Amino acid sequence: MKKVLMLSVAVVFGLALLLGGAPADVQAKTTFVTIGTGGITGVYYPTGGAIAKMVNAKRKEYGIRATVESTGGSAFNINAIMAGDLEFGVVQSDRQYQAYKGEEGSEWAGKPQPDLRAVFSIHPESVTLCASVDSGIKSVMDLKGKRVNLGNPGSGHLQNSKDTLMAVGLDPEKDLKAEYIKAAEAPGLLQDGRIDAFFYTVGHPSGAFKEATAGKTKVMFVAIEGSGIDKLVADNSYYAKSFVPVQNYPGAVNDADVPTFGVKATFCTSAAVPDEVVYAIVKEVFDNFDKFKKLHPAYAVLTKEGMLEGLSAPIHPGALKYYKEAGLK
Ligand code: GLU
Repeated sequence: MKKVLMLSVAVVFGLALLLGGAPADVQAKTTFVTIGTGGITGVYYPTGGAIAKMVNAKRKEYGIRATVESTGGSAFNINAIMAGDLEFGVVQSDRQYQAYKGEEGSEWAGKPQPDLRAVFSIHPESVTLCASVDSGIKSVMDLKGKRVNLGNPGSGHLQNSKDTLMAVGLDPEKDLKAEYIKAAEAPGLLQDGRIDAFFYTVGHPSGAFKEATAGKTKVMFVAIEGSGIDKLVADNSYYAKSFVPVQNYPGAVNDADVPTFGVKATFCTSAAVPDEVVYAIVKEVFDNFDKFKKLHPAYAVLTKEGMLEGLSAPIHPGALKYYKEAGLK
């Protein structure tokens, strides 16, 4: 039996050589990696796609085949990377900080993730609150008693929604009718009048807010500001003041940018992922930076130096090797 098997392997291999040789050779060396993203109407999903596209174009050179998975978001991605189910993931900078440190009050309280590694940071993300005009919601306080989607478990934004509510003195469990559904479903529910508002921490423009603002129901972005929010931002190094650029969404009733706070999207991996794989991905993105920047309008503000900021887990050695070679570290 063994002999027969070996013989057929030899025949197949010989045939492959005869037909050009390359396929069997490349396949033997291919490393498959999966990038965890978020919902398909967010910015993580096209971000994973942009990175995969660039790396896959050099498959012959690097022997890497990257695929992208739509997931529940940041928290899911961190846990899946740590479990070895994903090699890479897009992760909010605040979630990266909390997971690495096992921060009190976060889902990793008492469970730090010392093997989490940062690769680079990407686009800024704003904690965005969108409400139907008919709901009468004009401030975070007005969410009292309303039906509001805070985000699905596994998402990065669920904690931002809760932090926002608590910063103004609202109890997410008791003071409103909280929903915990995926961001991809929220725009449809808002348009159908089944929720009054939803939170989503995301880069702009995003498909989700294009959808939310393009229907029959008039909607507006609600400012997230005031002394409670100032304190929240001052107390947490991973939060910074931000705004929603409304020119991206002509369907929204706002006529000026809307103040809020935000974080950064970051690209993360595990200490267990080989240096050469991380090096190849970083090299591809940074050597072709201008090309990468054109892949999504949310990347317009990116600089190479800025992509090394907002990282709280140690930088993966494969990435560090490139940054040193490029004089960035
Ligand atoms: N920030 C969201 C999260 O961490 C995802 C946003 C997106 O998919 O662009 O779950």
